[in-house]
Amino acid sequence: MAPNELFQYSIVTALMDGVAESGLPLSDLLPRGDFGLGTFRHMVGEMIVLDGVIYQMKADGSVTSFGRDQLNTTVTPFAMVTHFRPTLSTKVTVKSKGDFGKLLTDLMPQAKNIFSSIRLEGKFKAVVVRTVGGQQHPGEKLSKLAESQVAHSFEDVQGSIVGFRSPSYMQGISVAGDHLHFISADRRQGGHLLELQTDGEAELAIAAIRIIHTELPTSDDFIQATLQTDSEGITKAES
Ligand SMILES: [Zn+2]
Repeated sequence: MAPNELFQYSIVTALMDGVAESGLPLSDLLPRGDFGLGTFRHMVGEMIVLDGVIYQMKADGSVTSFGRDQLNTTVTPFAMVTHFRPTLSTKVTVKSKGDFGKLLTDLMPQAKNIFSSIRLEGKFKAVVVRTVGGQQHPGEKLSKLAESQVAHSFEDVQGSIVGFRSPSYMQGISVAGDHLHFISADRRQGGHLLELQTDGEAELAIAAIRIIHTELPTSDDFIQATLQTDSEGITKAES
C-alpha cells in the first residue's frame, strides 16, 4: 500500500456484536501499515502499532510487543493501519481531549469528510486510558465489555498518541470522530485514550487519507452477525 492509504480489517459494528473469535494474522497486517490501532482475539486489550511494532496493552496494565515468530500465530479481529507520512507538523499545547478535537478541526477544516491519521508526541501532565479486559465467553458484545473496562491514569509521562479521525458517515464501519490510543515512551503503559493534557508543547503530525482498503472477515460469526449500527453504543464504547 502507498503512504497515507488506510487499511482496515473488519468493521467496528462487528466488534460491537462480539465478532472477535478469529481474524487477520498480525503478519498480514504489518505489511499494510506500520502505524495504527486495533484489538486482539476475544478483545483482550488494546492494540497500538507504532514504527512497525505491534503492542498489546492489557487491562492488568501490562504492555507486550510481538516478535517475528508470534506474528503468524496472533490474530486481530479489528485493526486500522497506514504507512504514515505526515503532511502537516506543528507544535501544540493541549488541555483536554475535547480541546484536542477542536484544535484538530481548526488545523484541518478541509478534512471533515475524509479520514486523517494523527500522531502526538511529547510529555504529558496527565493521560487517562482504558483497556478492555476481553470477552468472558465467545460472542460477548463490546457494548457489554465496555461497562467493565479498566481505566488507568498516568502523570508526567513521555509518550505517543496514535490514531485516526473518521468522517461521521463512517460510523459503524469505523468510529466516527477521533479514535486514539496512547503508549508511553518506555513502552510500559498505554491503552485507548480517554483524556489527556500535554506538559507544554507537544509535536503534532497529521496526514489526510482518501484511499481506504477494507477487508471483511469470512468467518461464520461475522457472516451470521446482525451488524446493525449502534451509533450511541459505539460512541460510548470507543470514542
Ligand atoms: Zn480504541
